[in-house]
Amino acid sequence: MRVGIGYDSHRFVDGRKLILGGVVIPHSRGLAGHSDADAVAHALTDAVLGAAGLGDIGTLFPDTDPRWEHVDSLQLLKAAYARVVTADHKFVQADITIIAEQPKIRPHVAAMRDKLAGALAAAPSAISVKAKTNEGMGWIGKGEGVAVIALAVLE
Ligand code: MG
Repeated sequence: MRVGIGYDSHRFVDGRKLILGGVVIPHSRGLAGHSDADAVAHALTDAVLGAAGLGDIGTLFPDTDPRWEHVDSLQLLKAAYARVVTADHKFVQADITIIAEQPKIRPHVAAMRDKLAGALAAAPSAISVKAKTNEGMGWIGKGEGVAVIALAVLE
C-alpha cells in the first residue's frame, strides 16, 4: 500500500464557471486558473501522483503550456493516473476535504464522486468527498477562494 497527499487552492474571480470535482456548481463566481481551475481534481491528482512517487501536477502539466489552457482537469487526472498504472500501481481509495465558505458543496458531492471515480476507473464508493467551511476565518472565511486536501491510497 502507498499513500499520497495533495493540496490545492484557487482564488474566486468573476466571469468564470465554478467547477469542482468535474461538476459545474451554480455560483456567482468561479475559480481563477490556467486550466478549468478544478481544485478538487488538482488536489486528487497530486495525491495519486504523490502515492506513486511520480512528482506533481505542475511538473506533468505546466501552466505555461498552452495545451493545458482551459483544459478539463478530469482529463489531467486521467492522464496522471495512466502514468501511475504504467508504474504498476492501482488506485484503491481517496478521501477529499473541500474547504469553502460558499457555495454549499454537499448537494454536489454524489456527482463529484461519480466524475472522479470515472477518471480513476474506480467505484464512486472508493472516493469520499467531504465539505467544510472555515468558520469565517482567514482568506477562505472571507470567501476569497477554495482549498482542497486529498489523500489517496494505491496498491
Ligand atoms: Mg490547481
